[in-house]
Amino acid sequence: MAWQPPGSHLLRGAIDCHVHCAPHLNHRSVNVFEAVRQAAAAGMRGIGIMCNFQNTSGYAALVNQELGHLGCHAFGGVIMQPTAGGITLEVAKAAIGYGYGPGTGARFVSLPTHHTRMVAEREGRSPAYLETTFWVPPNGRVPDPVPAIMELCAAKDVVFDCGHVAGREAVALAEEAKRRGVTRLRAHCSRYAPDEIAALVALGAYAEFSFFVLTHATQVGLTHVDDEKHKISAGPTIQDYTPRLKAAGDRAILSTDSGVFLLPPPVEAFREFLLLVESEGFSEAEIRRMTATNPAALFGVAD
Ligand SMILES: [Zn+2]
Repeated sequence: MAWQPPGSHLLRGAIDCHVHCAPHLNHRSVNVFEAVRQAAAAGMRGIGIMCNFQNTSGYAALVNQELGHLGCHAFGGVIMQPTAGGITLEVAKAAIGYGYGPGTGARFVSLPTHHTRMVAEREGRSPAYLETTFWVPPNGRVPDPVPAIMELCAAKDVVFDCGHVAGREAVALAEEAKRRGVTRLRAHCSRYAPDEIAALVALGAYAEFSFFVLTHATQVGLTHVDDEKHKISAGPTIQDYTPRLKAAGDRAILSTDSGVFLLPPPVEAFREFLLLVESEGFSEAEIRRMTATNPAALFGVAD
């Protein structure tokens, strides 16, 4: 067998549900086709295409038609950033239907990743900008039309994604999602406290942890959603992740959040991340649950 780097076996059958390989304002390490080809070559089962600018279910449907025979399934969805149409029921409905036939539309509908109060404050945006961003106020009341979007996700059996909000807000969203019948719920937990993560998981969420915030890509200002460049503030270390992963119990998901030109291509980024997690004492079986069983169950990726 040809030489393979350490940890290659961990990639076989894995799903990276968070890859930014769609067109962007800055360079990408791979395009959508390359991302699927490389993942398939590593024996991976799927990738989820994330984008702050548009719904990606069309890209996923297109690449599946061209490269589906390789055995790596792509799926997409919408992050309801202003550039993708904002937080409206119409945006969510269109994304869920947008593909090449039944079942090829969005697999997730996400609240904003950057156009949130928490991230905008961290980025030092203007008060006028902050006013327009999404947040759950301290009273915990989830603003309209989010409850209706949650009900749509429940009815269509797609993932509702809490976006990049504070842990307190994610818990409020998860409570509302449960009331609205959501059964597929994703929370981005890389920076949350263990007690917040435990609360999210108890409410039925899967807890996602990404490689990006551990990497050197956090050391430079990057264009994420517009022409402003921002550094991701000093991120956690793999040792910070360990108690958070444990708080997620059997509901943790590992992803790369890669695709930016500064990082290795997504497959390599995933391999490096999985070796880091393994070095913290997680077994191969635990890693497989976090990279295959859980993302397949959350997004409905068939064997
Ligand atoms: Zn991302």
